[in-house]
Amino acid sequence: MDRNWLNERLLTEADRLQNVKVEFEHKLLKCDVQKGLLTFLHEGKEKEVKADIIVGADGVYSQVRTGLMRAVKYVPCLKHR
Ligand SMILES: Cc1cc2nc3c(=O)[nH]c(=O)nc-3n(C[C@H](O)[C@H](O)[C@H](O)COP(=O)(O)OP(=O)(O)OC[C@H]3O[C@@H](n4cnc5c(N)ncnc54)[C@H](O)[C@@H]3O)c2cc1C
Repeated sequence: MDRNWLNERLLTEADRLQNVKVEFEHKLLKCDVQKGLLTFLHEGKEKEVKADIIVGADGVYSQVRTGLMRAVKYVPCLKHR
């Protein structure tokens, strides 16, 4: 699948929704999953955002996963047969 096409499509669909706000140039520095607090670096300054739900899609070096691993010692998963 062409990644540019997919990115464009997702952004176009998100843009159509009035309750969706897309922010660029925000680097996630820290994710406190217990408090629902996200710390971003934006235009050289730290910015905190409070969230009810956090969906991590920040790739292989995920800060969300790092935050999650600090909070939970054991993540149950399905056994693969
Ligand atoms: C060289 C290479 C070739 C590949 N080829 C294929 C292939 O042919 N087919 C295939 O199926 N898979 C391929 N893969 C694997 C595929 O790229 C990954 O499995 C897939 O991109 C993972 O998707 P993701 O959404 O989890 O993360 P990503 O696609 O990595 O997206 C993560 C996003 O989060 C952003 N991000 C990261 N850290 C932060 C942060 N701290 N704050 C804010 N944003 C952040 C990144 O900028 C990025 O936009 C390849 C990978 C590599 C490295």
